[in-house]
Amino acid sequence: MAMQQFSYFDNAATTKMSEACLETYVKTAEEYMANPSASYAPARESRQVLEESRMTAARVLDVKPSQLFFTSGATESISIVLSSLLWAKVPGRVIFSSIEHEAVSSFSSVLREKGWDVVFLGARDGFVSIDELERLITRETRLVAIMSVSNVLGTIQDIRGAVSLVRAKEAEYGRRIFFFTDSVQALGKTCIDLAGWDVDGASFSAHKIHGPRGCGLLYLKKGSIQSLAHAGGQEHGVRGGTENLPAIAAFAQALKDLKSDDERHIGMLNNLLRSLLEHSRVKVLTPGMNSVPHIIALSTPLPSEVALRMLQDRGFIISSGSACSNNARGKAESVYRSAGFAQEAKGALRVSFSRNNTLQETAGLAQALKEVAENG
Ligand code: PLP
Repeated sequence: MAMQQFSYFDNAATTKMSEACLETYVKTAEEYMANPSASYAPARESRQVLEESRMTAARVLDVKPSQLFFTSGATESISIVLSSLLWAKVPGRVIFSSIEHEAVSSFSSVLREKGWDVVFLGARDGFVSIDELERLITRETRLVAIMSVSNVLGTIQDIRGAVSLVRAKEAEYGRRIFFFTDSVQALGKTCIDLAGWDVDGASFSAHKIHGPRGCGLLYLKKGSIQSLAHAGGQEHGVRGGTENLPAIAAFAQALKDLKSDDERHIGMLNNLLRSLLEHSRVKVLTPGMNSVPHIIALSTPLPSEVALRMLQDRGFIISSGSACSNNARGKAESVYRSAGFAQEAKGALRVSFSRNNTLQETAGLAQALKEVAENG
């Protein structure tokens, strides 16, 4: 069934590519087909597009171009950082928040197999606790990963507070602890201050901000890491492989197009949905404070898959929380549970907005959600 027939509210899973990005993508594919690593003149032009895109990203993220590496998506950005731990001669402790995306949490099995002590930091109500982090950090801790914004609940984490604790521990133990934050759901939705937070690494994805799929960014404070996939040495050996230049140029376009007006518009949609759901059988799980405007987690008395089907029959597409694998429902459920929503987990739903959603269709969604919850 064609997507145009639906009101689409699953923008945390992926967004529609904008006209501007699509145009940039096609133009770059047509006009800059030379491989940026070749030595002839057209290749130098491709290289220029690559470096201009990096400069745009650096300007938007307020970091140095030399600290940014283009990848095939946030999953790869995360994988480069976490797999680099496998170089260590002596494994240590790794701390992941319990609400991390599977791109992070799935590393727990391979790390454990290689002797690492992987521990999970709780996230009551969707927020990690700095006090608990302090209890978990030991002399053996080598890496802490806390996402900037939860993709399931939309809660914004105190990255600045967590990093400052980690830096204090580093000083006490006299050894480095790598602090990683997955900022995929923060980009364009809330303030990102990579340098101010003092994180060592961060991941981003183009397709969450109306850019193309299969393109992401890795930020590295030090400008390098011991990568497992040096390959042909592209991206300074951090991510080998021929650069996806059309997607990279389109990603830069999506970054240029991030606007505070869109944030305001999405904030209005969020307020409208919340107010229309008051006094109904739909329970809003995402707290009104310290959460991004584009994600609202909800629950109804029905099992999620039943509610999703009923909403789809009424022309609305939302999700149960995460769309990244067959296992996604289980993963989203575990996030709801670790946030303290064990009762609601089976009936949990996620609405996620983009600038393309209107007030009218949001009012329609509220009505459909209420009907579904009443009939349940
Ligand atoms: N991290 C978070 C928080 C996400 O929401 C997603 C995508 O759903 C990813 C990582 C993976 O991003 P990509 O699709 O670019 O690999």
